Amino acid sequence: MNCPITYVEPVIRPPAEADALILQATIGCSHNRCAFCPTYKGKKFRVRPREELFAEIDWAAAHLQGLEKVFLGDGDALALSTDRLREILDTLRDRLPALRRISAYASPGNFASKSVDELADLRDRGLSLIYVGFESGDDEVLRRVDKGFTAAEIGDLCLRPQEAGLKMSATVILGLGGPALSAQHAQHTAALIDRVKPRFASALTLMLPQGEDDYRARTGDPRWRMLTPVETLQELRTLVAHVDGDGIIFRSNHASNYLALAGTFQKGKASMLAQIDAALANPRLLRPEFLRAL
Ligand code: SF4
Repeated sequence: MNCPITYVEPVIRPPAEADALILQATIGCSHNRCAFCPTYKGKKFRVRPREELFAEIDWAAAHLQGLEKVFLGDGDALALSTDRLREILDTLRDRLPALRRISAYASPGNFASKSVDELADLRDRGLSLIYVGFESGDDEVLRRVDKGFTAAEIGDLCLRPQEAGLKMSATVILGLGGPALSAQHAQHTAALIDRVKPRFASALTLMLPQGEDDYRARTGDPRWRMLTPVETLQELRTLVAHVDGDGIIFRSNHASNYLALAGTFQKGKASMLAQIDAALANPRLLRPEFLRAL
């Protein structure tokens, strides 16, 4: 049996899913408007035809019996109907008995059409981890980047999977607001993290392969500029300093970041702040520009 797995490029996945089999349950992103995100701009969002996806699961069942991790692509596979997700999860668990983790990207809007009971049912059927882009907790930043939701709406929607017991990894992006909105972006993002209390929170640093002029045009802010590495660290410091929730595992180990941090709030907060302060005092500790990547 020839491998039927085909990908509609580009395909991305979180760093922690490097060893997962990626199955594209959807193609593209159902929102696809964020000013900083070129990933799916060339794809029109669509649900993957059932027979294509299930042929890939059949092949995996025949050839990858020891498979432990599956990541459901693309940008927000949780946009699928609850019934389709149930069918996918049940089939994966039935056909791949060694599977211990099924994860997917999700956007806050995906939770609007799913009840807490439905989300808990998906958890019970094996959905282990969802990666959700908060991006910011600041309404002005969210409006400019066209995230589609206010911070209060992101909080309300993301409390549903939290209530359902789904493990969540939330992502925020340093630099979105430029120098003018840096402090409020960091403080309000910390407040949103505190409100939702995801199991994991991670920071990326803004990179714009499509160019800064494109971002300025999309956000409608002709005076916006990229933060310098030191300004980015200061923003990271403000964010870390303002997270008050306990037990949230924080990381900034994505290749886009100038400084890789890993710690758990609150016990690891002082250490993370000390590492940031050391890097601010000695910027040679920062990842060089040529080693940064998305
Ligand atoms: S919701 Fe996520 S994948 Fe979709 S455009 Fe925004 S950042 Fe990109």
